Amino acid sequence: MAKHQFQTEANQILNLMIHSLYSNKEIFLRELVSNASDALDKLNMLVLTDEKYKGVTFAPRIDIIADKETKTLTVKDSGIGMNEEDLMNNLGTIAKSGTKAFLENLTGDQKQDSNLIGQFGVGFYASFMVANKVEVITKKAGETQAFLWTSAGDGEFEISKSSRDSHGTTIVMHLNDDEEEFLETHRIESIIKKYSNHIPFAIFMDKEKHIPAVTDDDGKETEPSRTEIENTQINRANALWTISKNEISDDEYKDFYSSIAHSSEEPLTWMHNKAEGAIEYTTLFYIPSKAPMDMYRVDYQTGIKLYINRVFITDDEKELMPTYLRFLRGVIDSKDLPLNVSREILQSNAVMNKIKNASVKKVLSELSKMAKKDPKKYEEFFNEFGNVLKEGLYSDFANREKILELMKFNTLNSDEKVMIEEFVKNVDEDKKEIYYITGKASLSMLKASPALEKFKSRGIDVLVLNEEVDTIIFPMVTEYKEYKLISVADAKFEESEDEKKEQEEVAKSFEGLAKEFKDALGDAVKSVETTSDLVDSPVKLKEDKEDPAYMMAQMMKQMGQ
Ligand code: ADP
Ligand code: MG
Repeated sequence: MAKHQFQTEANQILNLMIHSLYSNKEIFLRELVSNASDALDKLNMLVLTDEKYKGVTFAPRIDIIADKETKTLTVKDSGIGMNEEDLMNNLGTIAKSGTKAFLENLTGDQKQDSNLIGQFGVGFYASFMVANKVEVITKKAGETQAFLWTSAGDGEFEISKSSRDSHGTTIVMHLNDDEEEFLETHRIESIIKKYSNHIPFAIFMDKEKHIPAVTDDDGKETEPSRTEIENTQINRANALWTISKNEISDDEYKDFYSSIAHSSEEPLTWMHNKAEGAIEYTTLFYIPSKAPMDMYRVDYQTGIKLYINRVFITDDEKELMPTYLRFLRGVIDSKDLPLNVSREILQSNAVMNKIKNASVKKVLSELSKMAKKDPKKYEEFFNEFGNVLKEGLYSDFANREKILELMKFNTLNSDEKVMIEEFVKNVDEDKKEIYYITGKASLSMLKASPALEKFKSRGIDVLVLNEEVDTIIFPMVTEYKEYKLISVADAKFEESEDEKKEQEEVAKSFEGLAKEFKDALGDAVKSVETTSDLVDSPVKLKEDKEDPAYMMAQMMKQMGQ
């Protein structure tokens, strides 16, 4: 028997589970069933594709066993199982991305933190919310030695040799005294129905079955009523995405979201689409109501699962959907991909690319529908994910116009955000120029910029883009339909003869002053000029965007230097 210490971060999570989580404990079952389902998914694929697993039988099932005498609750699967090394790596550490960010985000406030934990997807360690001791008996498919992992959640775990009939994993939880509700059949069944009804595998449990009394023709009881224990399937196990839309209720969609997104919050919306034709595939995408915590991290966790004809392939492939849609959660399933796809093949596979491109188009058009039909909901969406979606403006050239139409812009003349289709209605139809100003500043500061004075005096509206990313993205977006996008610094307006003359005179009279300024400022500025652009302000700074030094400074700023 060997003792081991949990990795520091795993230990922190464990402590949270044990000491600070009081609400919504039932999700531990969702997490364990989800792991069992993952383990079955993994074995399914290997048996179908890997020579090494040819002799292994795939007989998928998940069993839940409640024992009131020993006060134990057991979750058992016939999946891939783990060997000693797997146990060390998987149940002693946390490989999940965003763990650090998660731990840093904790506030110490019960309510807020349990919300965060819900978002984080708690995993195996959630078992310690209800148990004071957890045993894992497991045997890896294709191997002969089984192992026992035990821990009381007190910083250490032990691994020893053990025995198990066939491959798979059994998790035995010794429940705390006040958690005995989780031994009640109806309680377990309702949790499973809520979170795991539509996972692709069947879950079984012993259930009391009422058998009514038998009576003869005269109404005389010949056999009394009785109860029998029957091993019963308690979930539908129908892979929700394979069912047709009109047979799925909103609640079923929401429950499935909870199981695949490991979230206790309701999704903002979902898009379920079946494509038939040259390539057959089904997608079920959800938009969460809250941005995942790791959304702005390079090592963010992907939320899309790829299935090939209901066989799980991967949920760790960032190329499945473009990064600017990384907030999506859901499933892509197609019959038309080869089962033994490798990562490299997946990335260059023509069928996969077609599915991806069509899916992106579908998501963008669904968003556009939402913007028109349900502006309030769209606003919620845009507040959470608008800035991520915006990245698509430079990374997805093919869909730039559509993405531009999904943006909501602050403008000089409006107090509310405006969409570009609305904005162009007020653009000069002869010039067809959309003006914008960028800068990392508050909205009111940017709106007060001297560079906007000539627009104010002419009553021309301007897009006011005050996010840091805007300064990088918008110089690259040069057109929308027949309109040109032009930075306010480059906008030129025709001047009347009188204006030109006046300008020349003014320039002449200020020549001396301009020279004095230049002398005083020295190398800090390139030149000092007079301008007719300003109406109220005496001076403004003008950036020379072509200057390599300027562009470099912008890049460095964006990279956080
Ligand atoms: P996640 O499922 O997000 O990876 P978990 O904490 O739920 O995180 O599980 C950690 C790891 O432990 C899993 O990735 C898997 O490798 C392993 N594991 C957990 N439960 C099982 C199981 N029933 N069968 C096989 N492996 C398991
Ligand atoms: Mg898990």
